[in-house]
Amino acid sequence: MHSRRKQWISALIGLGLSWLGPQTAAAHERPATSDHSAVAPLDACPVAGPSSFIDSWGDARSSGRRHEGVDMEADRGTPVVAVRDGSAEFKRSNLGGNAIWLTAATGERFYYAHLDDWAGTSRDVRAGDVIGYVGQTGNARGDHLHFEVRPGDAAINGFPLVDAACNPSVGLAPILVALRPLVR
Ligand SMILES: [Zn+2]
Repeated sequence: MHSRRKQWISALIGLGLSWLGPQTAAAHERPATSDHSAVAPLDACPVAGPSSFIDSWGDARSSGRRHEGVDMEADRGTPVVAVRDGSAEFKRSNLGGNAIWLTAATGERFYYAHLDDWAGTSRDVRAGDVIGYVGQTGNARGDHLHFEVRPGDAAINGFPLVDAACNPSVGLAPILVALRPLVR
């Protein structure tokens, strides 16, 4: 009698867990990412001014590419700053337009794309230094900064890091995004 009761209890617990299952499974629908907690919090928000952004990690892009950055919508000319002390290398490409690779003293690399213009030239920078201005050069639609976090060769989802750095107290991003059209 007692063992049958135990079976019922464990069956009910199993049912409860399966109800919880779909909620936790939803978080895994996006492509797998490295553990963002391995990267220390950013020392500055990449965009020094009002911006809005969503978690678009893994979203489809042209030519079968997957989105590996955070698209931060902001007015053209809004300053873009170094998120770490490090070395900023200014480069131009068809996809990224006016772009910057920031190699941090701590080893990670950060990629900034679609700048309207750079601020100065390639150099050593401190976190918070202005290195460029938001624009839509390269393969961009609408003024925004495309920002990537690369602890190693591969990018990770930078959204949690950017969200924490740019919206330190309240997660305003979803509200702001609802008020503005999406760009790619
Ligand atoms: Zn992008």
